Amino acid sequence: MKHYKVIIIGAGASGVMCALQTKQKDIAIIDKNTKPLKKVLVTGNGRCNLTNLNLTSKNYNQNIDKFLLKFNEKNTLKFFEEIGLETFADEENRVYPISNSSKSVTDVLMQKLNNKADLILGQSVEDVEKTQDGFVVKTDIESFSCEKLVVSTGGNSVENIFKNLNIKYKNFYPSLVALKSKDVKDLNGVKVSNVLVSATNNKGETKKEKGEVLFKDGGLSGIVIFNLSSIFARNCNFKGLIQIDLLPDLSRNQLVEKLEKRKSLNVNLDKFFVGMFQNSIANEIFKQTKINTNINSQKLNSEQISLLVNTIKNLKFEVYDYFDNNQIHSGGVSLSSLDENLMSKQINNLYFTGEVCDVDGDCGGFNLQWAWTSGFIVGDNL
Ligand SMILES: Cc1cc2nc3c(=O)[nH]c(=O)nc-3n(C[C@H](O)[C@H](O)[C@H](O)COP(=O)(O)OP(=O)(O)OC[C@H]3O[C@@H](n4cnc5c(N)ncnc54)[C@H](O)[C@@H]3O)c2cc1C
Repeated sequence: MKHYKVIIIGAGASGVMCALQTKQKDIAIIDKNTKPLKKVLVTGNGRCNLTNLNLTSKNYNQNIDKFLLKFNEKNTLKFFEEIGLETFADEENRVYPISNSSKSVTDVLMQKLNNKADLILGQSVEDVEKTQDGFVVKTDIESFSCEKLVVSTGGNSVENIFKNLNIKYKNFYPSLVALKSKDVKDLNGVKVSNVLVSATNNKGETKKEKGEVLFKDGGLSGIVIFNLSSIFARNCNFKGLIQIDLLPDLSRNQLVEKLEKRKSLNVNLDKFFVGMFQNSIANEIFKQTKINTNINSQKLNSEQISLLVNTIKNLKFEVYDYFDNNQIHSGGVSLSSLDENLMSKQINNLYFTGEVCDVDGDCGGFNLQWAWTSGFIVGDNL
């Protein structure tokens, strides 16, 4: 059985960062994929949004300041600059390679990794055993031993290993994902911008964000919806409500005034919102108010105006599930069971990095930043 000082399970963003940072020489990275950094290639729609210049703990499910103090977005930029990656930030502080290609990111990382670690690819780790002086790592093909073990396996893949090592973790749940709703039947393909969206889960917890919503066949999507999906994922239940304020910059009174004025358009109600909303959105508003559109706008009474205003400020869609396109998982190994260097408090020399930890962030480069941060910290302390 081949022995290593350090084995890292997972050649993803955090595992590779860990391998690059450690001063240990005798290391192996084992990955079930035949190529390392496979997921990084698909990030940011193939452009890799590698961090965010507006980085705070507020973008995560919990306070991770003590880790960000050790390695934050500035360190990430410096690190990548030093290994040859040129980057730029867009207007929302999202950082991308100037090539606009995630392959540049994987290329510089692999160039730097060079022969620093043995890459054992195409082998899936099935089991880990704690021994007196380290660990035995069993893949579907062979076994290895090591003194220090880093678990960098991403979300949802190592429950077997957790059970065998008796590691406490919160169940993984898909997050940053599009949401299923039966109420969107006539809206497929419609996009609404500059709206304020609130998500409420079945515990009554809410999260709000302004931006764009895309309606798709059977549900809602877009970055705002992805970010709001975390309130369902963290609750391990996707039943709840999405409410959209279509005109968040107008107060109710201003909107009442506007609709009162529009009465004089003197049109059938199905044309009342022409010039204000797309037809399908106008139809949805009337559908949710249950106002019969077969009357003249001048006949709208104040109760109906108030109903329309309420609906424009609060278009409702019941959510019942998620689609299969999640970017991350919420859940994982609790930070309280790890020390400040992400080593298990129960098992000496066992470390965790990246998504396998119970840290999940918003879209915008925050999840890769956590992968770099945690990989750096563990690598630095091995
Ligand atoms: C479509 C998509 C787009 C994304 N876009 C962005 C973005 O633009 N910006 C951003 O910040 N985040 C983005 N993310 C999230 C980001 O990719 C992850 O947060 C990040 O890759 C997590 O890094 P990690 O090292 O924890 O895990 P991963 O990168 O998932 O790596 C884990 C590795 O472990 C291996 N592995 C798992 N189990 C085993 C096993 N039993 N044996 C051997 N190997 C194993 C896997 O094959 C994998 O290579 C995106 C995710 C997706 C899916």
